[in-house]
Order: sequence, then structure tokens, then C-alpha cells
Amino acid sequence: MATQDPRPESIALLEKLAAALIARGVVTEEQIAQKQASADRSNPETGARMVARAWIDPEWRALLLRDGTAAAEAMGISMRGNPPLGVLEDTETVHHLVVCTLCSCYPRAIIGYPPHWYKSSAYRSRAVREPRAVLAEFGTVLPAGVQVRVLDSTADYRWMVLPLRPAGTEGWSEDELTALVSRDHLVGVSLPDAQRKVSRAA
Ligand code: FE
Repeated sequence: MATQDPRPESIALLEKLAAALIARGVVTEEQIAQKQASADRSNPETGARMVARAWIDPEWRALLLRDGTAAAEAMGISMRGNPPLGVLEDTETVHHLVVCTLCSCYPRAIIGYPPHWYKSSAYRSRAVREPRAVLAEFGTVLPAGVQVRVLDSTADYRWMVLPLRPAGTEGWSEDELTALVSRDHLVGVSLPDAQRKVSRAA
């Protein structure tokens, strides 16, 4: 699905805002360029690798759950200027779904840009009201006994899901496991599957 292009008036507004912030010395042009470059570099493979490592390494898993920001930094990702990263551990009885009800808060440093549906008003409102219906539309049907917890990403805290390791992946390497984890799994709208490698094409 194609991402919606920004409207010309949004671009003009953003340029005015950036110019005003630079003129007042709040940020420099160089800082904006650096931030943009790091956002462009980031992609869901980072989050996928963090998950794969957690499936293999209990110590890493403990760090990831305790302090997602420190875990990302340990992977070489600069988290400076980013809100803290929280990691939500799925279990046999609890599934997590992430939404930003207000706008589009998203852990971009480790997942990249959010998909357009994440920013849609339909997802933002329905993920909270009827999470199971939303999950079903992504092809995810959870057993009745599984509780769905919906978490709101905000300007203060960004969330990522640590899904359950799929059955049939015993003995797999970190690279093989990383290849199973997609952006959607990290948001919680769908679940990784040992039979399905993720296409990383942008
Ligand atoms: Fe937001």
C-alpha cells in the first residue's frame, strides 16, 4: 500500500516552523538533518533483531524488558532525543496491541516510519474500542482465553511488542528468527509464523 503524500500546505507549514525554530536557536539546521538521516536509516529489521535475540538469549531478554532504550543503545542505535522505549512481553494468555490514540507516536528509531493505517483515525479509535475486530482484519484470531491489552504510545513513552516465539523454530539462528519478524508483529496486529519469512522490501 502506498503512503499518502503530505499536502502542500503541510509542507509549507513545516518549513515555516523549522525556519522559526532555527531562527530562535532552538535547533540547528544540522540537527534537523541528522535527525532526518537517522529516521531514514531506521527500519523494522532493528526491532526484529531485538526480538529474535530475546527469543535466544535470556539475559538480553531481561534487559529488553527492563529498559528498551538501553537495549536499543546496546544494538548501536542512538536513542538520544527519543522518548523511552517500553517492550511488552506477550504470553500464552496476554496479547499486546499498540496504538497512538492521539496522533502517530511510534518507536521510529527501531521500527522506522509508521504505516499509513497506524495514523488513520479508524485504527486509532477502533484499536481501543474493538481490538479483536481490528486484529481479525489483519488476519489475527486469538483464542478466547487470550486477553488483549491495548497500549497507548505517547510523546512520553513508545511501545514495542515482544511476540511469542513461533512453534517449530527450535534451534534456529538469530538471523533466521529475525527474518520472521515484521513491523506488524512489533505493533501487535499480527503474529510471527515459522512458515512465513518477512519481505523487507520498502
Ligand atoms: Fe502520537
